[in-house]
Amino acid sequence: MTDAGRPAVPPIVSIIAPVYRNAPSLHELATRIADAVAGTWPNYELLLVDDGSPDNAWSVIQELAAADARVKGIRLSRNFGQHPAIAAGFDAARGDRIVLMDADLQDRPEELPRLLAGLNNEVDIVYTIKPNAEGGGTEQITSRIFHAVFSHVTRSRVPYGIGTYRAFTRKVLDGLLTYPEYNVLFGPLMFYVGYRSIFLEVARDERKHGPSSYSFWKRLSLALRSLASYTDLPNRIFFAAGLTVLALTLLYSATVIIQCVVLGAGLPSGLTLLALLILFSLAVMLIGLGIIGSYIFRVYQEVLRRPRYLVTQTLNLAPEPPRTA
Ligand code: UDP
Ligand code: MG
Repeated sequence: MTDAGRPAVPPIVSIIAPVYRNAPSLHELATRIADAVAGTWPNYELLLVDDGSPDNAWSVIQELAAADARVKGIRLSRNFGQHPAIAAGFDAARGDRIVLMDADLQDRPEELPRLLAGLNNEVDIVYTIKPNAEGGGTEQITSRIFHAVFSHVTRSRVPYGIGTYRAFTRKVLDGLLTYPEYNVLFGPLMFYVGYRSIFLEVARDERKHGPSSYSFWKRLSLALRSLASYTDLPNRIFFAAGLTVLALTLLYSATVIIQCVVLGAGLPSGLTLLALLILFSLAVMLIGLGIIGSYIFRVYQEVLRRPRYLVTQTLNLAPEPPRTA
């Protein structure tokens, strides 16, 4: 596909923002978005997904939608969480280019043109990373550890300080929508699906209203959940632990046998034999757990019914390139 094939009107942009306790930010969000893209991408839709917000978010969304038809509202029946809310926005988005951002004004609407300008024939995803994402704090340390582990196990180079704020093409969205898994987390999934991407340094503003909806424990549980669906590392740890205990048990047994037979130390004590028996059973059980776990993981992977592959470009394959397996 080339840019020449595009209509003269800029393709519609879908900006998706899940809303939970963000009522006080919404007016400013809508105004700043409209101002930011007025010159470059006026043909956009702003999809505000009210994720069962306990404040008056829905009435604010109603006001905004009445004043500007480009603002579209989706109200979920209860609080489902950020990612299901994003999924609702993804399903409703009609744009050619998609932007995902938080509704709390931490992601600056003024950066929209820069993000969207980054998308072209060679770049399908523009991620944002926080500059100067250095320093201490439990949150920073734990998220650094998570990023290191996640990058390693998924073999993707997820840079530290990556934010939700990102722009991507319809092709990527269509790819994401072919993953039917129920408990989806879009952050890791976007890395998993691939496509060519770039990273833009974009400063993140402080939260203006209220606290973050993510506590340390909520973040930890998210981190564990996202790891669990991409790796069977814990099973491999069990397996390796089993092998190690087995090796040590054999070594211990060899020492005991040498002591008894070669050095003539007499029969080993009952305690020694018992210890060997326990260690041996432990090793067998750990190895067994590792093996069973890896089968369960494989069954889990099958149940997810993820597409086998996604296509990014085709040549001489007309008219509709196959998108997935
Ligand atoms: N959010 C949501 N449902 C929830 C929690 C959060 O839709 O149950 C939205 C929230 O409105 C915001 C985004 O997810 O647009 C990120 O939440 P937050 O700003 O609290 O997280 P942080 O920026 O601290 O990571
Ligand atoms: Mg936020």
